[in-house]
Amino acid sequence: MSDNNAKTTKTNAEKHDFIRAIIREDIAKGKYPQIHTRFPPEPNGFLHVGHAKAICTSFGIAEEFGGVCNLRFDDTNPTAEKQDYVDSIKQDVAWLGYKWEGAPRYTSSYFDQLHTWAVQLIKQGDAYVDFQTLEEIRENRGSFKEVGKASPQRDTSVADNLKYFEDMTAGKYKEGEAVLRAKIDMSHPNMNMRDPVIYRVMHETHHQTADKWCVYPMYDYAHPLSDAIENISHSLCTLEFEDHRPFYDWVIDKIGFNPRPHQYEFSRLNINYTLTSKRKLKVLVDENIVSGWDDPRMPTIAGMRRRGYTPEGIRDFCDRVGLSKADGVVDFRLLEFSIRQSLESITARGMAVLRPLKVTITNFDEAVAQWQELKAESVNARFDDTNNTLWLTQPKHPNVDMGEREIPFTKEIYIDQNDYELEPPKGYKRLSPEKPEIRLRNTYCLAVTEHILDAKGQVVELKATIDPTTLGNNPAGRKVKGVIHWVSASQGVPATVRLYEQLFNDENPGSAEDVHEVLNPNSLTVLQAVVEPSLANVNAGSRFQFERESYFIADSVEHTVEKPVFNQIVSLRDSFKPA
Ligand code: ATP
Ligand code: MG
Repeated sequence: MSDNNAKTTKTNAEKHDFIRAIIREDIAKGKYPQIHTRFPPEPNGFLHVGHAKAICTSFGIAEEFGGVCNLRFDDTNPTAEKQDYVDSIKQDVAWLGYKWEGAPRYTSSYFDQLHTWAVQLIKQGDAYVDFQTLEEIRENRGSFKEVGKASPQRDTSVADNLKYFEDMTAGKYKEGEAVLRAKIDMSHPNMNMRDPVIYRVMHETHHQTADKWCVYPMYDYAHPLSDAIENISHSLCTLEFEDHRPFYDWVIDKIGFNPRPHQYEFSRLNINYTLTSKRKLKVLVDENIVSGWDDPRMPTIAGMRRRGYTPEGIRDFCDRVGLSKADGVVDFRLLEFSIRQSLESITARGMAVLRPLKVTITNFDEAVAQWQELKAESVNARFDDTNNTLWLTQPKHPNVDMGEREIPFTKEIYIDQNDYELEPPKGYKRLSPEKPEIRLRNTYCLAVTEHILDAKGQVVELKATIDPTTLGNNPAGRKVKGVIHWVSASQGVPATVRLYEQLFNDENPGSAEDVHEVLNPNSLTVLQAVVEPSLANVNAGSRFQFERESYFIADSVEHTVEKPVFNQIVSLRDSFKPA
């Protein structure tokens, strides 16, 4: 990591939040042999930026306190889960730079143990089989104002309950005919404590256990016990589980563990203009609104990876957001800020013209002929007369350790259409009929002598001259303001360039009734650009700064040396400043 980043990424000692405070205290008391956390995704979709925060929290805290973190697939619901999702989740966690302890765990590998403990609860008189329909169970739970109504099966004998649960397990009931419930308190003020369901019948094939089971534990039951099995010390999750904590503790206490895991909740990450729900993101994929889970506009980890976001940038962002119990919405520009900051010192520079406008340099031949005589000491260049090209050697980055590249300069070049304005707005510093001269980055000063318009009055080509004395020198007797980038027309390489905006034009797309109505029609712009050769001959996944434009990455799926494809990572600057 660069010095620049080290200054802004908080050191461990600088991270203060209520969870770290608890952990420091637990360590001081010697409460656990080691700090042991877990990240428990359900493999029912691709992970998103919200999960990145959960990953950075659980893995980051473990690392910070010399502990370990497990990756556990919470696979208690066979209907929505798939092996593809398991694979993508592993890839995402590893890409973010974290190592899970041992092999990935699966809640499903504890099904035997969880079942044995369910039998134990029955024997203790703490669980019973209920034959009410799910609807009846729901109705009889009561409400905040009204206490619940006991099931007719609440006082079934232990012996009968054991028999019924065995029958459930043996497949004698259809889905919904019987459930196993914890026997707690039907008038408990916390609805989650009104005899929650802990096992249900599901005649489903599971991606890990195949057809071994037709009863599956509920998440709220499986989760605390899986934590206990894995010797988790601090089970960190989001606030929506706060109301489930009493049941978490109930289960742990009824089975009995020492030391025992504790659950702590922090607020979910919400980002404006961004959807953070696997279920809603899946709609975008299923309806082909995006090209897939890894569409660079998606806030999935796979999407951010393809977009060119760096793991360092995402971790820095999560650090900046921090942990708290206050619900809030983070500005997406904070994420962009962290990403931008992580890119500055690691990306080679290059010139790419995104909206090409041809410029013919009418005195090119004479000017470069003079170059031999006028050769400036400060310019490293060579002329190749087989293709009439002046090759300029320039560093790839202000940090010269990154090496050099050769930039071809030729009679015909492209500049960006936006760099020549017929009617420039006030304060415009680039080219216009009134201000015809400018510095071409890395090479001569250029003066426009003529613009050629099409039938609609659009500029389609420029004719210009270069000042032969200005390669590596300031022009004599005048100041030339402004620098623009350019690419050789004959030696530049055509490239597909994709520019992005936010997927939604509504600050809170999650609350929209119909996601289609809040889609930003400009979220993707595809341009046919021209890039200097050093940018084309690169591996997929290489990141660059296209000078004066943005950071870009050679697309990991579609880029080839012959047909370069670049995704915009993030703009070079923004007025946004983090607090
Ligand atoms: P989604 O609603 O997108 O499906 P989820 O919470 O159901 O998310 P899980 O796979 O169950 O997804 O989540 C794994 C972990 O990630 C949980 O501990 C959860 O608390 C955490 N998590 C999910 N979304 C966020 C978020 N937006 N911010 C922080 N943590 C999150
Ligand atoms: Mg979930």
